[in-house]
Amino acid sequence: MFDNKNIRSIHLHVPVYDNNAFPEYRGVGTYRAVSDKYYRKIYEKGCKEEFKERTQEVYNLLKKDWDIAMQYFFLLDGIQHVFFKNKLKIMDYYMKFNMFIADLMKKINDDDVILIISDHGQERGIHTDYGFYSSNIKLGMKNPNISDFKELIEKMVLKNKKI
Ligand SMILES: [Zn+2]
Repeated sequence: MFDNKNIRSIHLHVPVYDNNAFPEYRGVGTYRAVSDKYYRKIYEKGCKEEFKERTQEVYNLLKKDWDIAMQYFFLLDGIQHVFFKNKLKIMDYYMKFNMFIADLMKKINDDDVILIISDHGQERGIHTDYGFYSSNIKLGMKNPNISDFKELIEKMVLKNKKI
């Protein structure tokens, strides 16, 4: 959809499209943070900074003109890889996201669509095949594949632009 010439799009930190998708502390850092208590603090600090920067980038998007804007967050993946035994900490980070989305909802226009998609789930720090999605409108998709969203999004945008 980012290559569709009829759609004005912005993508930030999107894996494959943007080479700055993953923060520095990821990668080897994720595994190191599981066993190294000192590094775990640096890792979590990195997670918090990422959240602050990337949420601010989303707010900045509201001042720009586009049809589709996509932001990628590593935070919830990163936190669950390292703190999978600490359910309260994980809940706390989900709550931070909930509050961010609730605030974002107040700032968008009535006909704006927010779509939140996870590309996988996690169990005890390991990726699972199933993710989740959520939206401020009814999409009517039951058990979609992640690639199904491309067509849906393109249709919604082009219908709106009457192309
Ligand atoms: Zn992961």
